[in-house]
Amino acid sequence: MINQSDKLFLPKGKKNLLLHTCCAPCSGDIMLRLIDSSIFFNLFFYNPNIHPKKEYLLRKDENINFAIKHNIPIVDAEYDSKNWFHVTRGMEWEPERGKRCDTCFDMRFLKTAQYASEHNFDLISSTLGISRWKDFSQINRAGFKSTLQFKNVDYWDFNWRKHNGSQNMIKVSKEENFYMQEYCGCIYSLRDTNEWRIKNKKSKIEFGLKYYSFLDKNTTKNQ
Ligand code: SF4
Repeated sequence: MINQSDKLFLPKGKKNLLLHTCCAPCSGDIMLRLIDSSIFFNLFFYNPNIHPKKEYLLRKDENINFAIKHNIPIVDAEYDSKNWFHVTRGMEWEPERGKRCDTCFDMRFLKTAQYASEHNFDLISSTLGISRWKDFSQINRAGFKSTLQFKNVDYWDFNWRKHNGSQNMIKVSKEENFYMQEYCGCIYSLRDTNEWRIKNKKSKIEFGLKYYSFLDKNTTKNQ
């Protein structure tokens, strides 16, 4: 249960939040904070960037199971990875936080805003911003941009890292022993992370092996 002073309030008198979610670890603490703040919200899982499909399903199933556990409705949006590869063509060698990530965030936010507009949600946000590996201002730019064409939807740029968000994210992930992904999600981030690991004499990423209980025994490069 959160402290009274950490209670969240939706901005501008908004009532219905559609929260884009990227994975269970990023959304776990945020979901609990929203529930404790008596805020009505639905989750929207739309992440066609995640590759390969095995990893996509691991992240998605973990997220759906946690939503079900807390009776939070979750929309399982389409895995249109072909479209993701199409829009990011030519950006294969962009570094993380570069142009490819702009496009990746734009795509995911636009779909979220469109769904919100068509289903009576008046506010969107995303759990992406809680990760300290992400550029928060880059995420907010994409979030605001996505709502420009939908008059009835606004973007909430709340900084989920506030009120010990980053620490609580790890705490909840350990308590739930969530699946721990080790790269951002796309095939290019997988390639770059593996390159980094090989240079640092670590084995390549294996899908489906590591869970948050691992952190109690070791330290690792965690995305
Ligand atoms: S590194 Fe992450 S945010 Fe950037 S394009 Fe790949 S999946 Fe998307």
